[in-house]
Amino acid sequence: MPDPTLDPLVALRRQLHEHAELSGNEAATAEIVARHLAAREPDDMATGVGGHGVLAAWSGPAPGPTVLFRCELDALPIPEGNKRVSHRCGHDGHMAIVAGMADRLRARRPASGRVVLAFQPAEETGAGAARLLAAPEFARFRPDLAFALHNLPGQALGHVILREGTFASASVGLRLILTGRSAHAGEPHKGHSPALAMARIVEDLSRWIDPQWRPGTLITVVGARLGRGAFGTSPDDAEVSATLRAWTDQDLAALVAQARERCARIAQEHAEPLRSEPLRSEPLRSEPLRSELVEPFPATVNDGRCAAYVRDAAARAGLTVEALPHAHAWSEDFGHFASICPIALFGLGAGLQQPALHDPDHEFPDTIIAPGLAVFSEITDGVLGGSGGAQGG
Ligand SMILES: [Zn+2]
Ligand SMILES: [Zn+2]
Repeated sequence: MPDPTLDPLVALRRQLHEHAELSGNEAATAEIVARHLAAREPDDMATGVGGHGVLAAWSGPAPGPTVLFRCELDALPIPEGNKRVSHRCGHDGHMAIVAGMADRLRARRPASGRVVLAFQPAEETGAGAARLLAAPEFARFRPDLAFALHNLPGQALGHVILREGTFASASVGLRLILTGRSAHAGEPHKGHSPALAMARIVEDLSRWIDPQWRPGTLITVVGARLGRGAFGTSPDDAEVSATLRAWTDQDLAALVAQARERCARIAQEHAEPLRSEPLRSEPLRSEPLRSELVEPFPATVNDGRCAAYVRDAAARAGLTVEALPHAHAWSEDFGHFASICPIALFGLGAGLQQPALHDPDHEFPDTIIAPGLAVFSEITDGVLGGSGGAQGG
């Protein structure tokens, strides 16, 4: 239960923090959220949308557009105390802010149109937004404009960080699977270990990237494995995983194509190992490298009009707005919302000394719940007009 001595949204944030759950497993978190929303008497509500997603809508008296505010339900596999999952991306704080919108909407409806609050599952794996948008229930809540915020460590507390165009990079995981041929560890020359090809691919992907080529492109090798560590066997398989990033979806596609080509060439160069005697049985696979793409995130591209709504709202809320000079290297699956309507994702400064997102010491600062809520609230007024007054009983 939330601590009754705290500000209710701070108490809710800490309660959600205690119930941190991994992407796709946000059942308890979704239940807390759904209870909070249901008590604020929405006109329409849906749970279990695209996984554990929760949607709720409040309408004004006059017709008008639907404005959606989105936050994320999931936490990360980063230990905290004796627990193995924790909110180290601050999604607990984002949820508290959007939950605060439900309080505001119950007390004061928009003058026109409709506000939808969306609690999205599985952001961290990049799967949740697309599943939410594709869920049949989502059609009832379809927005005309969508907004989201993300806390930003390293930025002044409560500052709004904004950018027109790409705010967060496109990214994708590239998994490379090398196949050779096993042999006795005492006779490695009779098989074909992918060890050298793997080592060269790790080195090539780690060193190759000309920053002048396409600004914003980045490759990070995130994993490599050779064989199974069986001491009697020269291995026949290896795997290298890397995350590729770029400021645009087009640049990312070009980067992926080039990376695949480079790695295929390296694998091919090592496909015919030096041998003292020819193989007697089946020849080597003609295709020594397979690759697959996982966890794709599109670039999050902010619409100019939506960015202007955020800028005006922040100004009315008395917050400092900072321009982001270029896109963040991290990715956000909120970019998928741009496939259905104009969007804006903005940053909310989490403090200059705040540890980075996903750092084991990161924690959402409760002091920025109020400014985040103020921006969403002012966006609502800016798009839908001041107040439709209290409604319901
Ligand atoms: Zn994250
Ligand atoms: Zn996040």
